[in-house]
Amino acid sequence: MGLEAVKDWIHQCSRCSSCKYIYRDYNSSCPSGEKFWFETFWASGRVWMAKGIVNGDIDWSDSLIRALYACPLCGNCSIQCKQDVSAHLLDIFEAFREEAVKAGKGPLPVHKTFADGIQKENNPYNEPHKSRLDWLGDLDLPKTAEVLYYVGCTSSYRQKEIAQATFSLLKKLNVNFTISPGEWCCTSPLLRTGQTAIAAPVVRHNLAVLQQTEAKIVIFSCAGCYRTFKEDYPKILGTELNAEVLHVTEFLLELLKNGTLRFTRNFPHKITYHDPCHMGRHVGVYDAPRELLKSVLGLELIEMPRNRENAWCCGAGGGVKSGFKDWAIDISKDRVREAEHVDAEYLVSTCPFCYRNLEDAITTSQSRLKMLDVTQILNSVID
Ligand code: SF4
Ligand code: SF4
Repeated sequence: MGLEAVKDWIHQCSRCSSCKYIYRDYNSSCPSGEKFWFETFWASGRVWMAKGIVNGDIDWSDSLIRALYACPLCGNCSIQCKQDVSAHLLDIFEAFREEAVKAGKGPLPVHKTFADGIQKENNPYNEPHKSRLDWLGDLDLPKTAEVLYYVGCTSSYRQKEIAQATFSLLKKLNVNFTISPGEWCCTSPLLRTGQTAIAAPVVRHNLAVLQQTEAKIVIFSCAGCYRTFKEDYPKILGTELNAEVLHVTEFLLELLKNGTLRFTRNFPHKITYHDPCHMGRHVGVYDAPRELLKSVLGLELIEMPRNRENAWCCGAGGGVKSGFKDWAIDISKDRVREAEHVDAEYLVSTCPFCYRNLEDAITTSQSRLKMLDVTQILNSVID
């Protein structure tokens, strides 16, 4: 895309600063601005820098690149901003990163390793592709099915407990589903860091995999993969996917409503729910995980003060977890403290990447909280 495509929107920012805090609440909303406390690290400053590059008023520099990538693309600014530019802020930031890559100034060096891993082993962790389904054992999978479970790289190689819980749930519920050994990275790590030029062939491969399974529905554990398939794939491919794209919680909610999903045990614990940015603000899915959780007998869902569209980011997205390791965990620690304040026993989310960063924060801050995915709770309360 590049900055040329978004230049009309750039000029719509009035620099009113409403994006800096939760609207009419004044609680903090922007992890980047709160950390660096300098205009270029808030949304308004990044838009201003983009304008400077487009107009030729400023040059690329190391400090500009640092400010550009010191943002988890959480989208909180796009909620708090009440001007027309609000709907385009994330597009501007991503176009700006793409422009930086085109100019040979971006991404951060560590982000280039994602691209290498994806091109070599089809995942940003550079793990062997042949071990992608090791978490599954030797189970035979059908070649075609009604539902394709797209596992994603983080659930395949890191948070395998989420893939296992999801697989177990789908089996218990007799869902006609499959998993493809041909699945490649969804390309979110490339798209969020401006490395868009190499994403298209990977996207086309995943489309071919989906078509081979003849699935009518494709479901996701990862909020990032889900957002990428739902929002980015149609733009890259120039056409809608010939399958319904659902987060696993949306799919399971349908099974709850039609009576297929029934609980046989209680979960007598206080939990709080963290909205993944890619699922909440980016796509607008807030209710499905909450409705599932509230339906579990004994479970008490307590909301954190910043919830739904105002949720504080976990800090992992947009290349921040790899590019700013310590800061990513600091952002998550803020969320962990918020969960502790509402007296929850469990911090629950529905994205393996959020899970990973929040669990890192729980460990490093020696919090009493325990981390769980929605699917792990559901899997524990049905036979
Ligand atoms: S991004 Fe929106 S809220 Fe922020 S300064 Fe610009 S117009 Fe104001
Ligand atoms: S996307 Fe999030 S971190 Fe980035 S400028 Fe907006 S609110 Fe701040």
